[in-house]
Amino acid sequence: MSGCEPTGQASERQRAGWRWGVGARAPTVLTVASGPLTTERRTTRQIQVGSVAVGGGAPISVQSMTITKTADVEGTLAQIYALAGAGCDIVRCTCNEAAAAEGLAQIVPRSPVPIIADIHHQYRMALAAMEAGVQGLRLNPGNIRKPDQIKAVASEARDRNVPIRIGVNGGSLDPALYEKHGGLTAEAMVESAQQELAYFAEVDFDLVKISVKASNVPLMVEAYRQLAEVTDVPLHLGVTEAGPPPAGLVKGTAGIATLLLEGIGDTIRFSLTADPIEEARAGRQLLEALGLRERKNVDLIACPSCGRAEIDVYDVANRAMEAFGERQLPLQVAVMGCVVNGPGEAREADLGIAAGNKRGHLFVKGRNVAVVPESEMVESLVEWAEFIAEHGADAAIARVDTALAEREAAKDRSALLASQGDDANHADEKIVEIRKTVS
Ligand code: SF4
Repeated sequence: MSGCEPTGQASERQRAGWRWGVGARAPTVLTVASGPLTTERRTTRQIQVGSVAVGGGAPISVQSMTITKTADVEGTLAQIYALAGAGCDIVRCTCNEAAAAEGLAQIVPRSPVPIIADIHHQYRMALAAMEAGVQGLRLNPGNIRKPDQIKAVASEARDRNVPIRIGVNGGSLDPALYEKHGGLTAEAMVESAQQELAYFAEVDFDLVKISVKASNVPLMVEAYRQLAEVTDVPLHLGVTEAGPPPAGLVKGTAGIATLLLEGIGDTIRFSLTADPIEEARAGRQLLEALGLRERKNVDLIACPSCGRAEIDVYDVANRAMEAFGERQLPLQVAVMGCVVNGPGEAREADLGIAAGNKRGHLFVKGRNVAVVPESEMVESLVEWAEFIAEHGADAAIARVDTALAEREAAKDRSALLASQGDDANHADEKIVEIRKTVS
């Protein structure tokens, strides 16, 4: 198993002097577990969505959307709290009818995060949502197309200081643009956003962010790239209707991560056909994996398992994931199948455990610190992680006799090598057979 290589080099587009939208770019050096990730973020204006700043160098925020009826105040609040606990910074709720707007009036004051109202076809719902006190709106230019209605909403938002996301969606593009561009194209989506911006400008409203989502990843990536060239408005990234995991996660990650690594994007949402908590987790984990947000929860790594494994690595890793749950322990924790290679391969992890001879060998920053019965591996990991999060790795190492733990690990390592030999995966035997077959 090899570690990740640091990605500190400029992309082809950067080397080619590709123009990064409007305005200058400030290099940002971010530190991730495997090393520094250097990227230049596109400089955007900053807007404020309630307490969360978006754009202008603010941390990239994670968004998701409730799937309850907004009129169900308690049910919706329960979901908002769960989303916030999973790392969501901003939550969107549908505002499709008067009862939903009334629900928002009760939800907004009790929500732990800013609430954005998603407006469908009725511009009056946007006015009602602002009356309810929402911190932001999302308008789909393909759904509300009458200029006087768009300008009425923007004027009210201007007076109330409420930002609006222009949420262009490939599936509901204005038919006139569809026809003009001969179908759904990146140019058509960008033009839709620009038309809406022009209506907003007519009433002197500029508290805006934009999304140009499509379910087709290359199309979505191209639309955002084009948009980034013509405006400094903060961008909300997402692949719409990505579908259920794992395919939905792959599509969302492909589109969002590609753009983030080009410095494009100020806030993100995974659109999954799944519990919205999965969306929030995925968003948070993606930003942490790219070094764009501080780690909040455990980053669990595990070996892929092989013939040398002394435990069911999948089972222990899954149980560990479950045990760490939403505990806010910003550590990298490793689950390794054997003590022969595990501690060495995961020496960069803050904490890890490797199996050997029916025992679990705990190691901190590659140093063996304790031996526990196999049945207590997960429990011990959690206990040590909590100690390290509170006191640091050095204090954890200092509280034990590492020489004793290393002797025990060496004993089990030798026993395993003696019983399995150097070639636990029987590769040498297979090679002999292959040679016989092809000779
Ligand atoms: S079981 Fe051991 S050798 Fe096999 S992948 Fe895991 S750590 Fe590596």
